[in-house]
Amino acid sequence: MLAGEAVGRAAAPAGASRGRFEAIDLRDGGSRFGGYGVEQAVANVNGPIASALVGQDAKDQAAIDLRLLELDGTSNFAKLGGNACVAISLAVLHAAAASERIPLWRYLAQGTTTRLPLPEIQIFGGGAHAGRRIDIQDLMVMVPGADSVREALEITGDVYRAAGELMAKAGTLAGTADEGGWWPSFSSNEEALEMLMRAIEHSGHRPGHDVFISLDIASSEFFRDGRYHLALDGSQLDKDAMADLVEGWARRFPIISIEDPAAQDDAPTMARLTKTLSNQLQIIGDDFLVTDAARVEQAAATGACTAVLIKVNQAGTVSRARRALQAAKAKGWATIVSARSGETEDTSIVDMSVGWDAGQLKVGSFARSERMSKWNELLRIEEAMGAGAKFAGWGAFPSTMRKRQSLTK
Ligand code: PGA
Ligand code: ZN
Repeated sequence: MLAGEAVGRAAAPAGASRGRFEAIDLRDGGSRFGGYGVEQAVANVNGPIASALVGQDAKDQAAIDLRLLELDGTSNFAKLGGNACVAISLAVLHAAAASERIPLWRYLAQGTTTRLPLPEIQIFGGGAHAGRRIDIQDLMVMVPGADSVREALEITGDVYRAAGELMAKAGTLAGTADEGGWWPSFSSNEEALEMLMRAIEHSGHRPGHDVFISLDIASSEFFRDGRYHLALDGSQLDKDAMADLVEGWARRFPIISIEDPAAQDDAPTMARLTKTLSNQLQIIGDDFLVTDAARVEQAAATGACTAVLIKVNQAGTVSRARRALQAAKAKGWATIVSARSGETEDTSIVDMSVGWDAGQLKVGSFARSERMSKWNELLRIEEAMGAGAKFAGWGAFPSTMRKRQSLTK
């Protein structure tokens, strides 16, 4: 709470497939809540963090976030907890916007023109979000040719339902994975891609024309000893074979976006795929970049990635996340604000995606309240913008993809 009685609150999310270089998610260990308790992180908020921040100017987010970093004393919030710090950083941001009596997205935009982000929505879950039933973590769709968020969501809803119907007909409908996408009952990774194509067709939309495929391969999860271990396919691929596999998928399916096709330690493969594929799709770094401006700069210098996933809790503070986003934009990259697999009802990321003009928003699937609260918030912002609302659509993608954009218009 601020002196003027403006209040801000926020919740920290958590991830199941975490990058090695992320801010630390501080848990209590021991037996309580299976070790996942956060009493220590909460004590840090009420103790040292509160003492350090009382009396500070909530509108000076950079100073607040710097104070958190100094207080912690490590680069990855190992002492206070990235979860404690990100919740506080976001709560201060909310309080500052509340003190101005304007919506958070407007406060963040600071008078600049912003666009509504293109949604990236999961149809099938996988990887660490589905007991590693398939190796690919997210099979998603994007509708860049839609006129509005509302239309993009409606079409995605059609595909989600169609996928469920096809799974039911095949007798393979087995509930949902962590982010609300259908549980992946497939006998190979490629079969999942084929089923997604069929689902788009079954929904009455055209794959590669109005609905495109987006993958998060999250390959750090199955990269060991220099090889990619695709358990479902029974294959162990070296770096070149993994790149061949991804390039083959990009040739055969209307894929418009691929996240972490190479592991967090495998920059050469990321650079190769960026070189061969960046004219037709965006290459996103998630675990590879961990919302860190320095890693973005480094990747750009070596020709790896054309887009960054922005997860505020990977960075630990709002300012750090924003710096990573700005570093990516300065390189002509695309930026995607993203939720985590462990989400709450907190919708701050929606305001960030709009206010920072990120262009894209990834929130998991089209089910479950922690996801739908975010899509609903995005719809409310679109409604509030009224006639002035501008949907990012094709403009959300990196400049390297221009060729594809002109072809599909
Ligand atoms: P996570 O997954 O939140 O489990 O890390 C989300 C993602 O990889 O994009
Ligand atoms: Zn990811």
